[in-house]
Amino acid sequence: MHDQPHTAAPPELRGDRTIKRKRLFDAAAAPIRKRRPQTVTANPPCPSPLVKVLREYGLLEVVVSELCADDLWALANTSKALNEAIMPRTVSLNNLLGRLKCSGKGVEIRNKCHQKWPCFEASLCTEHVRCGSTNTKHETETKSCVNCKVATCDECRIHCVYQTSFEGPCDPNDPAELPNFSGFVLLQPFEQPILSPHHLNHDDSTSEPRWQDPSKSGRGPYHDQGYLDVPFHLGETAPPEYIGDILDLDLGCRSLKSVYSSSHYTSPSPVVRSLDMVAEARKVHFCDFCFGDVAPSDVAGMQEWDKITSFLPMLPSELVASKKECRCTLRTRMLDRWLCARCYQAEEDAIESFSRSQSNGGTFRCRCGNHVQRVLCLWCRGEVLEQEEDTEKADH
Ligand SMILES: [Zn+2]
Ligand SMILES: [Zn+2]
Ligand SMILES: [Zn+2]
Ligand SMILES: [Zn+2]
Ligand SMILES: [Zn+2]
Repeated sequence: MHDQPHTAAPPELRGDRTIKRKRLFDAAAAPIRKRRPQTVTANPPCPSPLVKVLREYGLLEVVVSELCADDLWALANTSKALNEAIMPRTVSLNNLLGRLKCSGKGVEIRNKCHQKWPCFEASLCTEHVRCGSTNTKHETETKSCVNCKVATCDECRIHCVYQTSFEGPCDPNDPAELPNFSGFVLLQPFEQPILSPHHLNHDDSTSEPRWQDPSKSGRGPYHDQGYLDVPFHLGETAPPEYIGDILDLDLGCRSLKSVYSSSHYTSPSPVVRSLDMVAEARKVHFCDFCFGDVAPSDVAGMQEWDKITSFLPMLPSELVASKKECRCTLRTRMLDRWLCARCYQAEEDAIESFSRSQSNGGTFRCRCGNHVQRVLCLWCRGEVLEQEEDTEKADH
């Protein structure tokens, strides 16, 4: 699914690297670990001026703010003295990574995964897919990625609905004609139209200003807002759905499949099909016995499990077998965590290969061959307890 395998990432961003770093950090607390020799005696008597500058943490921070992760890594690898000046203890290293300039990798990944649908009228159409670090017109928020800690701008992190295209009205003097917006779901390939509140004459839309062309106005793009419509390439019709409701749907007790279904189209609605695919992929089915004993016993399985759990830094490991119930929403999973596109891909890959390792050869059975009774959510490691939807209500 992903053009760029995670293994192609520079070493400082690799998942395994992160795990190692975490382990080192944990191990540092244990008394067995040997202390490094003091750098003063290890260094040559006369360090270069650059090393001297970078040893001053305040100056190092200033230098780092002009560098991307790759630059910092290259600089740190030029000499042992530089490496020791730049790579301090884990806490300050994380701080440094958060002060880097965003590398634009997320936008690169988006451009690889998203397949642009031909414009209706190219001359009226502008694209807005640009890393915040190269965009002087826009103020783009930048934060540390929750997983790799590297500074990531809002355009390079994962969004549930990216808004990428603006197509102006044919007659700019006609106030009744609204521009067209479109974009993509997560890193899924299909472009989907997006409607602003004004398109649907939403009650409170009169108070809000109309959506603008992000490339001209300094406003927008309006990620994760408005109404999502059927992907361009599908011939089906279905009503547009309010993105806020999709994002806040409690996936622990309901599914996009059941909520957005109707007798008028194959379930789920083509509007939410890509999101439903991603939400479904997080579920692993077990029998009652295996559910209580999920952590795999074999080494290969354990490595996969480590990869997934390394993405859940907030949750202590004892929660694995606890009686936790899944309360995941797309918003808490994808938006409330500030996650870079690369780490999102790594998470998806880890989840996919773990699911495969636990599946029973494509059959709908537990890994042990028993009937499935319980569903585990790999996002939170809680149990999914879906209610049966009554069909009348679902057919909205
Ligand atoms: Zn276009
Ligand atoms: Zn960026
Ligand atoms: Zn990351
Ligand atoms: Zn969950
Ligand atoms: Zn089983």
